[in-house]
Amino acid sequence: MPVNDFTTQLKNDNLQHLLTLQNLSLPWIERILDHASGFLDPITHRILKRPTLQNKIVFNLFFEPSTRTRTTFEIAAKHLWADVINFNIEASSQSKGETIRDMVANLSAMHGDLIVIRHRENGMPHFIAQHVSPSVHVINAGDGAHQHPTQGLLDLYTIRHFKKEFRGLRVAIVGDILHSRVARSLIDGLTTLGVKEIHVAGPKGLMPSDIGGWPVNAHTELSEAIDGVDVIVMLRIQQERMETGLIDSMESYRDSYCLTEARLKLANPDVIVMHPGPINREVEITSAVADGAQSVILKQVTFGIAVRMAIMDILVNGVK
Ligand code: ASP
Repeated sequence: MPVNDFTTQLKNDNLQHLLTLQNLSLPWIERILDHASGFLDPITHRILKRPTLQNKIVFNLFFEPSTRTRTTFEIAAKHLWADVINFNIEASSQSKGETIRDMVANLSAMHGDLIVIRHRENGMPHFIAQHVSPSVHVINAGDGAHQHPTQGLLDLYTIRHFKKEFRGLRVAIVGDILHSRVARSLIDGLTTLGVKEIHVAGPKGLMPSDIGGWPVNAHTELSEAIDGVDVIVMLRIQQERMETGLIDSMESYRDSYCLTEARLKLANPDVIVMHPGPINREVEITSAVADGAQSVILKQVTFGIAVRMAIMDILVNGVK
């Protein structure tokens, strides 16, 4: 699959698809974040509905399980007055390019305007973007261990909301870096926004072999990674992508990497704690921290709706 074909994403200086944050420029990121804030009441953070996708059809194609992402895409589309058609195809054996190609041809013939796709294969959204008819926009809702750009953008939105500025920030991302599309998209976005430092931490078996080439400081000790940071992003252990032997045991993982109140004290006093969900409580993060004063995990969910509305509106209607 052509995982890094940046030419597919932009068409005549317009954002045609959202497939990756790897090459999304600073102005595009800022445009999306600014547009998202227009969909949120500044005081209550309630979502402001607008009929900008009226008479448009959004296909939600989820080949992997999802609750938050699928639901918030559906809510976002409905808040823009789009018609949403959900396909839950987790159980299906469709993974071959040919079959997908037929499906894409059919969806194009049904005159869908937006295809939101999650798939276990890296690059599948790119493949689809290259085969849909020119009027269709594709949004990557997570492909394998590759990218999850809307999660990356909602994470950036959340960080900007609480920290205002990216330049001086120190951010730690902790856990299953190897399998994390969330980490990859967020690191791409944070790098484009020019944060001061990005630290990653996890067991050796869950660290990508090419981590030395990433724009991060990699640690196996959690305490080194979170020392004095402003933002901590905890990741889910991706058991569905895990080969045996990558970690010794869940117990040893918890002992070394679970974010507890005691460990949180190593970070800046005003640190925010994030997690893309779903959370494995008491494995990645204790309930005291997940539900504590510094957790912004549920804010991520609300902001995610506004960010997804902004992306869909910009793809379909352009930037005004
Ligand atoms: N919900 C995120 C994703 O789809 C994070 C996770 O599942 O761990 O990648």
